[in-house]
Amino acid sequence: MPPLLRSVPRCGEPMKPFPPSAFPGLLSPVAALAPWRALRRWLLVALLGTAAAAAEKLRVQFFDVGQGDATLITCPDGRHHVLIDSGDNKYPGSQDNLRSELSKALGASKQIDVVVASHPHSDHIGGMEWVLKNYSVRTYIDNGRPAETTTWGNLDRERKRQVKTGKLTYIDGKKGSLTQIKVCDGVVLTLITPSANTTKLSDPNDQSVGVRLDYQPLKNQRGASFLFVGDMEEAAEKVWLDALAPEARKLVDVDVLKVGHHGSDTSSSVPFINAASPDLAFVMCGAQGVGTNIRYQHPRASTLRHYGDWFKTHPAAVTAHDVPIRAYNAETKRWQPVERPAGLWASVVDGTVTVETDGTRFFVSTAK
Ligand SMILES: [Zn+2]
Repeated sequence: MPPLLRSVPRCGEPMKPFPPSAFPGLLSPVAALAPWRALRRWLLVALLGTAAAAAEKLRVQFFDVGQGDATLITCPDGRHHVLIDSGDNKYPGSQDNLRSELSKALGASKQIDVVVASHPHSDHIGGMEWVLKNYSVRTYIDNGRPAETTTWGNLDRERKRQVKTGKLTYIDGKKGSLTQIKVCDGVVLTLITPSANTTKLSDPNDQSVGVRLDYQPLKNQRGASFLFVGDMEEAAEKVWLDALAPEARKLVDVDVLKVGHHGSDTSSSVPFINAASPDLAFVMCGAQGVGTNIRYQHPRASTLRHYGDWFKTHPAAVTAHDVPIRAYNAETKRWQPVERPAGLWASVVDGTVTVETDGTRFFVSTAK
């Protein structure tokens, strides 16, 4: 049994939250193996443009859904899946891409073990009602906050209907922060919701449910870790780093980071990037002048520069190709090409990006 787990529930079922006192023991194996981080950098291998064999690897796909998030995690057995967010229902092509990517990834299988709606904005829950109606979802997690939109209202009705009929298990991320869920052997999700215990975070973005994914194929191996932060902005990042219990704070340090809030300059504060210390980072964003991104103008040039500064002094696990990313410069109020940091990918340039890991090495392939 991997040291992360206290007990082994059925795949896809929630484990009981760890009491704070359990975390030092939980995290000590990671701390003890810290030198692995340096060693691993020598072991990491780039395999661009080619999908590695999936049999023994965990796969994470950052779907190209424009200005929105949708990420699919597939266990090494190829049979268990987690979907975090579901694209936008306003950005052109977002839902078509979500459906086509899910269909390609899941094939005839209609089962998704865990679905997470980070927060109830339409660029995250745009396809959620459709997912619940068209796939057999076993566990559904959201941030426990209502929204006054038709999209959320319809989704919430469907979610409640499926819970009532016993089809769906529901976890309120606001109450279940630090809950752990075993998805399959060696694959564990941990929910981290900085807004759970404070009234300081009133912005819906800051109330996003964060998800840490750990893949530990071998006992006593450090394994690979991913962090998905939804649209958390600087205020939530600050609560995470300064106000959460030390054990929860440590969970921010990962190998792979889904960049917060589509590369906005309201997220990815320098202290947060430093604490996350990513070997790879992924921005999920729309294009200049398209759909909802006409208003949002993501990503921001200053944010990409922060990641550039990070990757200048911290070697990336895999080097991205050097096509620049067009980003909005809030100072000049113009879009500009920004030189891409070595470890940064962006859906607007790369299309859907697939990351595979055997727990030690990372392999990245891009659709474009
Ligand atoms: Zn968003």
